[in-house]
Amino acid sequence: MSLSYAGADVAPIQPADTPGVSSDAFAHLGLSPAVLNAVRDAGYRQPTPIQSQAIPHILARRDVLGSAQTGTGKTASFTLPLIDILAAGRARARMPRSLILEPTRELAAQVAQNFETYGKYHRLSMALLIGGTSFEDQDRKLGRGVDVLVATPGRLLDHFERGKLLLHGVEILVIDEADRMLDMGFIPDVERIVSLLGPSRQTLFFSATMPPEIRRLADRFLDRPVEISVAPPASPATTVEQHLAVVPGKDKRAALRSLLQREDVKNALIFCNRKRDVDILHKSLRKHGFDAERLHGDMAQEVRTQTLQRFKDGRFNLLVCSDVAARGLDIAGLSHVFLFDVPIHADDYVHRIGRTGRAGLKGRAFTLAQPADGRYLAAVEKLIGKAIPRIEIDGLAASLDADDGRRRRGGRRAEPSPPRPARDEGARGRPPRARGRPVPVQAIDSRPAEPARAAPTARRAEARPARAERPTRGLEDQLPAFLLRPVRRAASED
Ligand code: AMP
Repeated sequence: MSLSYAGADVAPIQPADTPGVSSDAFAHLGLSPAVLNAVRDAGYRQPTPIQSQAIPHILARRDVLGSAQTGTGKTASFTLPLIDILAAGRARARMPRSLILEPTRELAAQVAQNFETYGKYHRLSMALLIGGTSFEDQDRKLGRGVDVLVATPGRLLDHFERGKLLLHGVEILVIDEADRMLDMGFIPDVERIVSLLGPSRQTLFFSATMPPEIRRLADRFLDRPVEISVAPPASPATTVEQHLAVVPGKDKRAALRSLLQREDVKNALIFCNRKRDVDILHKSLRKHGFDAERLHGDMAQEVRTQTLQRFKDGRFNLLVCSDVAARGLDIAGLSHVFLFDVPIHADDYVHRIGRTGRAGLKGRAFTLAQPADGRYLAAVEKLIGKAIPRIEIDGLAASLDADDGRRRRGGRRAEPSPPRPARDEGARGRPPRARGRPVPVQAIDSRPAEPARAAPTARRAEARPARAERPTRGLEDQLPAFLLRPVRRAASED
């Protein structure tokens, strides 16, 4: 059997002490014996494509522009060579030798954990600078001198502005998840941080997608970089089986419960767009006897960290969350992802479902759409280049509104306005991107709908209500749009 890492074949992970297993395949990359031992202890047999392509260049001190999703082994691709480069030399007080910037606290903590795993045979010091944890402890560590600083931009600048940190000694800068930084409004902070570094540094820049803004930034920050791309931007892992049900908005909780009961759910993330809805859904699931906890950016950092750890340890099996958990979080063997809402940013779909189906395992993803979600769904399907296969749940079917974009701009609304996304970490989020024209797709049990990437003429034809829901052929064009919409029942059940 072989595992698929972003389209390339990788041997399955085996325990390090299995006879005959070695990390020989890593040996030709130029890593030191100590790092190779740590890799062997982690149970890795072969480098993933991003690792085999990036590590030799990083060791040769080249700048790298990496286009790679999380789940491809990206973290080790920069952490392993970083450890070897930093092994020679000593840290000085308040002058970190390397800096890894991450968009969220969770990701930063995860990278720090990886650093400890791979650096176990070295004596390098590290500090994790993230919000919501003790400033003084972080300051003490900086005072002792650190080789590696893993930080979110805001907290890093806090330390700098208090005069507790000097950044011109940074020899290696890693900007991870650059497109996420952009989404969260962190780019001005990142630019400021880069302006505080010395000019003779090595820069490693990673992004899952490469929109023009990110490319421009890379051009400014990097010096003749080696470009590495291990997966086409935003292609969801082939190991995730995707499903979509269009249900009336008020029935979404019932639909979710039904899915949770009928699926063999070992552990699942359940994503909502709004923090408020995370709270409501969490409460509702608990009321119905599910073993659910919640995670979003309004919770204290300590509680967030503990909740995530308890979830990873299998202490409960359902985590209702905002997009704070969408990117990069590595939860071993997550069996399911449920999207209680269609994301406002199409690329969040890819990141949400990418929490499952990792490391070659199979995963299942279910999206619950409501009639007004047509335009967001169209953007998602355009991004992934295919229609998500439709399913019907307990007869709770609805159809996507044909013209919700136009009606939203007009006065009358039968559905609530589109929710604002739960942009947890950044206060300066950008307006939603990638909104396509509404493409109505009829909810049909298990039959794939028309691909969203339709020819312009076909799209014009699709912009009319689906045939089966038209009350009378020919008449619908004369009816006001709101009369064509499904009737809403008044009461909500939970
Ligand atoms: P990342 O993309 O860095 O989030 O890594 C995703 C997962 O792949 C993590 O659980 C890593 O421990 C694992 N991983 C990284 N490199 C390898 C490798 N060479 N072989 C097997 N698993 C790996």
